[in-house]
Parts: sequence; structure tokens; C-alpha cells
Amino acid sequence: MTCEFICVGTELLLGNILNTNAKYLSEKCAELGISVFYQTVVGDNPERLEETVHLALSRSDCIIFSGGLGPTTDDLTKETVAKAFGLKLVEDARAKEELLARMNHYGRKITKNNFKQALIPEGQKALYNHHGTAPGILIEKDGKTAILLPGPPGELVPMFEEYCIPYFESRSNQKIVSVMVKLIGIGESEAAARIEDLILNSTNPTVAPYAKTTQVHLRVTAMAENEEAGRALIKPVLEQIQAKLGEYIYSMDENDDIEDVVVRDLEEKHLYISCAESFTGGMVASRLINVPGASNVLKESLVTYCDEAKMNRLFVDPETIKKHSAVSFECAKEMAEGVIRATGCDVGVATTGYAGPDGEEAGHIFFAVSFKDKTVVKEMNLAFDRNLVREAAVIRVLALVHQILKET
Ligand code: ATP
Ligand code: MG
Repeated sequence: MTCEFICVGTELLLGNILNTNAKYLSEKCAELGISVFYQTVVGDNPERLEETVHLALSRSDCIIFSGGLGPTTDDLTKETVAKAFGLKLVEDARAKEELLARMNHYGRKITKNNFKQALIPEGQKALYNHHGTAPGILIEKDGKTAILLPGPPGELVPMFEEYCIPYFESRSNQKIVSVMVKLIGIGESEAAARIEDLILNSTNPTVAPYAKTTQVHLRVTAMAENEEAGRALIKPVLEQIQAKLGEYIYSMDENDDIEDVVVRDLEEKHLYISCAESFTGGMVASRLINVPGASNVLKESLVTYCDEAKMNRLFVDPETIKKHSAVSFECAKEMAEGVIRATGCDVGVATTGYAGPDGEEAGHIFFAVSFKDKTVVKEMNLAFDRNLVREAAVIRVLALVHQILKET
């Protein structure tokens, strides 16, 4: 099946917003094995949109639209597409009911315009929206498919997952099974180089790297007649990835972030963690507290920014700071050990470094994890901006906690 996207919105043309929907849809279609040959961005203009729709219909089996489903007069995707397909708009009872319920819930006044959102092209399928008022629409006519999705990514993404993935799967009689392998501590190009043969030569499953700002994800995707057969295809590939990159992998679960994994590790081992943070300013603790249940593993955490705080709260030896400075291997070690003494926790974490952006030492950082009479200290030089240096340090130190707990 060939597919193309039409993203509607003058603000996309003006550069006011980034077209993240196109990126998301492209990734998903690649995973689903759907070929995407064209993507168009068109403003909120009915003539130009109509022209674009006709061109797309002449060359693709399926068109996915994003945006222009809302209640205002510049939202004209539905009207234009219905016209191109020769379909009348009729009211959908459930869409209207859900619209009223949602407006009531938020105490918003209903205007005449709102009811426009409950209109669906005759005989076609409404994709009910659980995150906003405008339903999406699935049109199948004359061998062509059009899928209309709302513009806000918080609505488009869940709608695509709920309706479109099963729709495409049902059309192809194939089940897509995929696993996300998540790595920290290795760059994208090095990770890709280590498994180059898998990336280049695997067709089913495919292996695709995605570089996140401070981590690397690898998506392994198989197509098979059912879930079990898909898993069986994926298994040997995961084993090969494990063999080549195992030390960097922290999860093979789509929903896991590093902090979820660390909180789980600590819970399983009934351990408490405390952090002594300098340039990360509480970000390590904050990441841990993102996870429901963090209170089972984190009692307290200290932001010890100046030298005095490191000495007074964490028992860092003044001589250490005098001799090596606060940004040093020795200081990071004493901070991690000191926070255990200060808080009575089991695992002590410390960060100290120059976040930058100014100064010769910008991006020079140390982090340490202390557990059971052993302290591991790491030193890094990061060529990122201030926020990324801090973000990178947070995930690296959490990955180190995970690694140490896995080994013990
Ligand atoms: P609404 O009911 O909110 O008006 P809509 O379906 O009419 O939704 P638009 O009006 O086109 O969608 O866009 C609403 C908002 O969604 C935009 O202001 C923008 O924040 C976001 N958005 C729209 N298109 C995209 C896109 N292609 N990529 C990322 N965000 C987008
Ligand atoms: Mg709109």
C-alpha cells in the first residue's frame, strides 16, 4: 500500500510550529511496512487544499491528513475532503453526544460552530477522540482511503495508535510486532556501527536506530501472521543486539524510562537511594520522583551546590576540595559516600561538574555511585549546551545505578 500525508495549517508554512506529526506518521508507517512517497504541507486555504487532495488521490492508495478538524472557520479539512470524495456531511449521534459531554465537563459554552465537529461524511467511520473534541474520520471509497486526524499531537498520536494501527494491520493480514531496545552510554553512530550487519541486512525483522538527545533507541520490527510468530522472528535478533550492546541496554520495554528501571531495581532489592547533587540541582531526584512509587526508594535528597554545603552536609574533606577542587574524582567519591552517611540510605549518588556554557572546563563532569563499601566514579567531557550537559549527567548516573544493582 502506498500512503501520503497532507498536513494542513498555515502556521506550519510560517514556521510557527514544527511538523512533528509528519515525523511521527513517517516513523509509524515505516514500522507498519507502508511506503510513503510524498508529504505535503498546505495552508488553511480550501482551493489549494482541494488541489492537493486531488493530486494525492491520483497517485496514492491512502492519504493521512493532520489538522483542520476543529470548530473554527479556518478548520476546513473535513469539508474539503468530503467534497473531493463526493460525500455529504451528516451528523454522527455519538460524536455529538461526546462533544456535549466534554463541553459540559469543562464548563465550556457550546456555540453553533462546535456542532460542526459532530459532522461525518455519510457512511464513513468516526474515530472518537478521547483527548479532544474533534473526532477523526476514516473514509473508504472507490478503492481509496483517507484518514483525517486532528492537529494537536496529544490527540493525533493516541488516535493513530487506537484506530489506524489496527486498521492497517487488518488490511494487510499481517501482525506487526515490535520491541524497543533502549540504550544509554553509547552514541548513535557507534551503536549503529556495532550492529551494522543487522541494520543493513535484516528485512524481517528490521532494525532501526533512533537517536534521542541523550540516549539511543533501536526498534526491532517484525511482520508475521500472528503475535507469537512475530516474537519468534524478533528473538534471535534481540539476542544478537544483546551480545553486541548488552552493557548499554537498560530496557526492552517501550514504556520504560531509565528512572522506572532504577526505581524497580531498588524496590526489588528493598534499598533506599539518596542523591547529593551539585550542577544537576535536584534533577536526579526529580527524575526518580517521576515514577509512582518513588517513595518506596527515595527518602531525601540534597542539592549541595557550593563548597561549604559539600563539606557541611556531606562531610567532604576541606583538603580534598583545596587540593583537587569540587569538580574532581575525589570530591565526587566523597559526596556519594557522604550522602549515605548523612541520610542513612543504601545507595548514594553524586554529581559534580561544570555545566557551562562558559569557561574552558564547560562540560567536564564527574558522577559517582556508592553502594556496599564500593564507590564507582565516572568522568566525562560533554560538548553539549548547559541543559543537555545536565540532562546527560542525570541519565548517565541513573544508568550507572542500574548497572551496579544488576551486578550485585
Ligand atoms: P483544534 O480542534 O485544536 O483546532 P485541529 O484539528 O483543527 O485542532 P489545527 O487547528 O490545524 O488542528 O491545529 C491545532 C494545533 O495543533 C496547532 O496550533 C498546533 O499546536 C498543533 N498542530 C497542528 N498540526 C501540527 C503538526 N503537523 N505537527 C505538530 N503540531 C501540529
Ligand atoms: Mg483548528
